[in-house]
Amino acid sequence: MSIVGARRIVVKVGTSTLTYENGKPNFRAFESLARVLSDLKNSGKEIILVSSGAISVGLSSMGLQERPKEVRFKQAASAVGQCELMFTYDKVFSEYSQAVAQILLTRDTIKNPERTENVRNTFSALLELGVIPIVNENDSVAVEEIVFGDNDSLSAIVAILAGADALLILTDIDGLYDSDPSCNPDAKRIPRVDQITGELMSAAGGAGSSRGTGGMHTKLEAAKLSTEAGIDTVVMSGKDMHALYDVLDGKPVGTLFTARR
Ligand code: GLU
Repeated sequence: MSIVGARRIVVKVGTSTLTYENGKPNFRAFESLARVLSDLKNSGKEIILVSSGAISVGLSSMGLQERPKEVRFKQAASAVGQCELMFTYDKVFSEYSQAVAQILLTRDTIKNPERTENVRNTFSALLELGVIPIVNENDSVAVEEIVFGDNDSLSAIVAILAGADALLILTDIDGLYDSDPSCNPDAKRIPRVDQITGELMSAAGGAGSSRGTGGMHTKLEAAKLSTEAGIDTVVMSGKDMHALYDVLDGKPVGTLFTARR
């Protein structure tokens, strides 16, 4: 199924979109995300949101300026921040009478077939009931996530698990560029990628913002997973949530990674 006909859609939103540089929640971003996703849902789409931001919001709630080095403090921050994150989502989605649900996953959930089946059933029941599931990694128990992991791959795994038609990864840049646009003013956005090659992966570079954990590399890895499973994937900017309408209307937004069919 192409992006235009996509019915079940996973949207991934990162810390850089949901929070300001100082780590505090960007309520304008939360509000416009909730409005657009509720509206898409009303139009007949099924939406699953994969949201980061717990650690950043938790740190700012506790008045900490810097991301701590010690893992247990990051876990503590995620435990505090996840509450605030869901409180904020609940509030902004309730403006549109849209029910939301929290699902926290760890990699080992996905490794166990029985638990995988349980999660799949929960997704299908929630979607059938018109709820928007909001997924994050269970950071306070999953140490690997904080150290190596990222919500980009989690979003691809969720898209596969839930049998999604499309995965939209929102970030702080409007797609994949042929060179680093922060140092090369002539860098050009690549509108479409049909094959994620090793060369493309190494050109994508490493780390993302100081507040999240991903970067373009993890987005390509996620896109590789999802496109290989037959899911069209778009990496696009989260600055203007209205772009979500455009991408689903087939307009050229971000970088489209086409599914292997
Ligand atoms: N799960 C982490 C959080 O909610 C973020 C992981 C990521 O940025 O990819 O803070």
